[in-house]
Amino acid sequence: MAKSKAKSKAKAKSKRVAATAKSRTTAAKPAGLLERLAAGSVICAEGYLFEFERRGYLQAGAFVPEVVLEHPDLVEMLHRDFVHAGSDVVEAFTYYAHREKLRIIGREKDLEKINRQALRIAKKVARSTGTLFAGNICNTNIYDPADPATHKAVRRMFDEQIGWAVDAGADCIIAETFSYAAEAELATQAIKKTGLPAVVTMAMHKTDTTREGLAVGEMGKRLEAAGADVVGFNCIRGPWTMLPLLKDLRAAVKCHVAALPVPYRTTPAEPTFQSLTDPNWTGIPDNRPFPTALDPFVCNRYEIGEFTKQAHEIGARYLGVCCGAGPHHIRAVAEALGRHPPASRYSPDMSKHAFFGTNKLLKPVNTGYRQQL
Ligand SMILES: [Zn+2]
Repeated sequence: MAKSKAKSKAKAKSKRVAATAKSRTTAAKPAGLLERLAAGSVICAEGYLFEFERRGYLQAGAFVPEVVLEHPDLVEMLHRDFVHAGSDVVEAFTYYAHREKLRIIGREKDLEKINRQALRIAKKVARSTGTLFAGNICNTNIYDPADPATHKAVRRMFDEQIGWAVDAGADCIIAETFSYAAEAELATQAIKKTGLPAVVTMAMHKTDTTREGLAVGEMGKRLEAAGADVVGFNCIRGPWTMLPLLKDLRAAVKCHVAALPVPYRTTPAEPTFQSLTDPNWTGIPDNRPFPTALDPFVCNRYEIGEFTKQAHEIGARYLGVCCGAGPHHIRAVAEALGRHPPASRYSPDMSKHAFFGTNKLLKPVNTGYRQQL
């Protein structure tokens, strides 16, 4: 493409983006989750726990989002970073802010406070950017298929968190990272009781079945029957070990399908980020890269873009990245879908690089030296 043509195309595109932003701020209510999915795709940035653990604001192991109470400004900024990069959804940072986890770190008394604060922060960002405000519930870690008392306790945990999300005015609820389809089913029922749209995603471990042994298609049908509006996968698996599961799920359900892998290079032999091993470095705690030594496995933005394209081709319309995601990954998701979020203004242009570039203002003394770099 000629440069001037590319420039005018980019200009027209940025005008369209500006027009959309304007209509969003003047419209009475931005489109809801289901309207957006009917019109195209929805991008959701997840993985805030890993980001704040790296930055030193919460602890690996317990993985409780204490940063919500201690540094709400930082949580707001991370939400804004992800929206800037293209996320359509601001997910309240209530992952693992549930009764069981807070009990483990001795902060059960802060349960309601942390939930309401996380919801308030997410709502503030969503309402000021025309994005969706999502409540969030997740795996409880107390569900035991053999113990019906735990099913009741799980449901109580879901109901209390969903209640706070409804109070806050959430547009939809995301229920995520379940290993048991039956626990996800309880979550779906709890959400649907409120009438809000439900996004329900499963964490798939080493085997291609749920923890109770359901094939992906059966799992999808069960959650769809329970009322889930979007069914899919999040976390645990990297792009290339999540992709094959998507085909089976897409074929089995009529509802929308979600795909939010972790941005790590998992393989058929080591399909989950917990099972990755690092032959190049010893001395990691427990000799297991998960969760604090995964750095050498991080996918680059181009891989995430390629995964997004392939997942979209399969038919997944709710797309994003989970634990390990940075804003550059989310921008790659957006650009793979043909979008131009505000962060795309700074997408790479190596023509301006002092040594590798082609710009005519560059010094030949440097461009001639590129082979020596
Ligand atoms: Zn995750």
